[in-house]
Amino acid sequence: MHRFFVSEDSMHGNKVSLEHRVAHQLRDVLRARQGTRVILLDNTGYEYEVEISWVGKDGGEATVKESRPARGEPNTQVHLYQSILKGDRFELVLQKGTEVGVSAFHPVFSLRSVVTEVRPNKQERWERVLTEAAEQSGRGRLPFLSEAVLFTDACEVVEGLSLIPYEGEGVTGLKEVLRSNKVDGLLNLFIGPEGGFEDQEVDFARSQGITPVSLGPRILRAETAGLVAATAALYEVGELGP
Ligand code: SAM
Repeated sequence: MHRFFVSEDSMHGNKVSLEHRVAHQLRDVLRARQGTRVILLDNTGYEYEVEISWVGKDGGEATVKESRPARGEPNTQVHLYQSILKGDRFELVLQKGTEVGVSAFHPVFSLRSVVTEVRPNKQERWERVLTEAAEQSGRGRLPFLSEAVLFTDACEVVEGLSLIPYEGEGVTGLKEVLRSNKVDGLLNLFIGPEGGFEDQEVDFARSQGITPVSLGPRILRAETAGLVAATAALYEVGELGP
């Protein structure tokens, strides 16, 4: 059954008003009509099986037939502190990371970041990419997208088990760290930009209790590394099925 996220203020008792984006998808893309059932989610951790009462060009209304806790959310929250990337590669990380189960994305400016600012329209585009990926993959909540932050600021405020995959790390591997440290519901991953981290950034991260880890002997593109690290970590803690 198709799933759509709606704003929490769309819910009025057992009625749900359908905003333009959702109405357009239902009416013009899915050819849904009165009586069609879909799942709506208000990002509170619940999902609502609804029946369309009416849907028009700019809006519509549905009636809640059943509500239940939303599925699709991992118990372990992976927060991906991904250095911002050129072109649409950062969007690829957002889309694929959402599908895999990343709970939060923190765009990071690091020393070798080529991208040095995030315009409002870019942030809005990223939110759309997250919403569509969360609907397609059956997430129960929208992954959080923070404002872009400086690498050093992120290192100073992060809490919980935090790792910085670094291709210069020749000793400690991801599996070893995950198995020797209890992942207590939260894991932070820091990924460098196209040109990688400066050694001084890795040293600073280490000084903040963030552990450098290797992702193996091959050099991964930045957009690959975040996804591989997140997927491997979610697999290791049992979030990709038995
Ligand atoms: N120094 C790299 C090179 O020679 O091309 C550039 C950095 S790589 C494209 C981007 C980021 O991916 C790195 O900053 C690191 O966070 C991560 N990464 C890539 N390969 C890795 C590996 N084998 N082990 C750990 N981290 C890796």
